[in-house]
Amino acid sequence: MPVREPESMNELVYFTNRTLDNKGLAKVWVYRQDCPKCGKAKMGKPVEKGKVKIRAKEYVCQACHYTVAKEEYESGLTAQATYTCPGCKKSGEAELPFKWKSVDGVKALKFSCSNCKANILVTKKMKEKGESDKEDE
Ligand SMILES: [Zn+2]
Ligand SMILES: [Zn+2]
Repeated sequence: MPVREPESMNELVYFTNRTLDNKGLAKVWVYRQDCPKCGKAKMGKPVEKGKVKIRAKEYVCQACHYTVAKEEYESGLTAQATYTCPGCKKSGEAELPFKWKSVDGVKALKFSCSNCKANILVTKKMKEKGESDKEDE
């Protein structure tokens, strides 16, 4: 299945656009999913007084208020990526589980180039971002 480029940050749980070694590039995003209980709304971070609590540790359905812990919810999602491979310079796309793996002591999303099989790593950013950043951790 070809990946679908996101149109709005509002439909995403995660988005990042990175420059990699050797002029490689990686763009990774994860779509929000419908509530598994009622299917009427997308799961999202809780909203309080009109503001999204981006650092909340859970996701909530806006319709039925079904709540799932952040890690449990996110680990079931699928990330999509487009990239320019730092190894062979070919561009491609990938789908991968939205699971952070420890690579040399750093949390990273990992997938491999469909052409040369080189590992492509997108490391997790530390807590230093504003509320609008999707990489809030
Ligand atoms: Zn629901
Ligand atoms: Zn490659």
